[in-house]
Amino acid sequence: MRIDLHAHSNVSDGTEPPAAVMAAAAAAGLNVVALTDHDSTDGWAEASAAALDAGIALVPGMEISCRTEEGISVHLLSYLHDPAHPGLLEEITKSKDARTSRAERMVTLLAEDYPLSWDDVIHHVAPGATLGRPHIADALVAAGVVADRNEAFASILTSHSRYFVQHYAPEPAFAVELVRAAGGVPVFAHPVASSRGRIVGERTYLEMIDAGLAGLEIDHRDNPEDGRAYLRTLARKHGLLVTGSSDYHGTGKPNLLGENLTSPEVFARIEELGTGSSVVR
Ligand code: AMP
Ligand code: FE
Ligand code: FE
Ligand code: ZN
Repeated sequence: MRIDLHAHSNVSDGTEPPAAVMAAAAAAGLNVVALTDHDSTDGWAEASAAALDAGIALVPGMEISCRTEEGISVHLLSYLHDPAHPGLLEEITKSKDARTSRAERMVTLLAEDYPLSWDDVIHHVAPGATLGRPHIADALVAAGVVADRNEAFASILTSHSRYFVQHYAPEPAFAVELVRAAGGVPVFAHPVASSRGRIVGERTYLEMIDAGLAGLEIDHRDNPEDGRAYLRTLARKHGLLVTGSSDYHGTGKPNLLGENLTSPEVFARIEELGTGSSVVR
């Protein structure tokens, strides 16, 4: 069984529609794939039909952007939650709306120095998709300012950049609570990805565990080896599930479907714990 529990479509910042992600997952030899778009479940229906066609199992999921009191970014994966749960839906709607005004402010700042307009950005966004810096990066690539998304994130779009603007995001422990309330299985995505910015300390893990955190995504290319050792210790101590995933974004990132995998035992446990929606197979 080849199980990859983290992939994005153009419902957020992946580059392919959900059906194409399912086809790519089957072509990569996966048996199970999770669709985990940022702050959106809008891709579930299309992905479900395509997964059935392709003969692979789909785990409906989502990746929630969170921020701690100290301002550290945390990504929380949710599997098998109820997409209509009012509390969770209200929270991700708030984030999605805030992302739009945030992107507008970033584009206003960028337009002072670069040939970039709001229309140029929207051109790279599928209707209704969760807006993010990757879409601004795509417009900067099209304008010839940078070669690819990676160069944009390494320069103009970093969180230290003078063009960077924050957006509303829930605190991690609160997001964990909401995912549980919605019958979902909360897993901390790439927890020690220090290349993306500051990483959280023990207190945040303990708060998330108290709130009902189910697992840690340890096998992810952005987690350095020393950080993985710390996470394995934490998982053992607190009885957390351990997952491995690609974080596929189509051509938006080098991450390849199936480059990291989750064990069948952990997948079975996630399926048992998730009561808000079902694995599509
Ligand atoms: P945002 O949520 O709008 O602040 O943008 C962060 C998103 O950009 C993350 O979800 C990543 O998927 C994506 N991202 C971060 N770094 C890179 C990179 N170097 N290349 C491509 N995408 C990236
Ligand atoms: Fe992303
Ligand atoms: Fe992430
Ligand atoms: Zn992701």
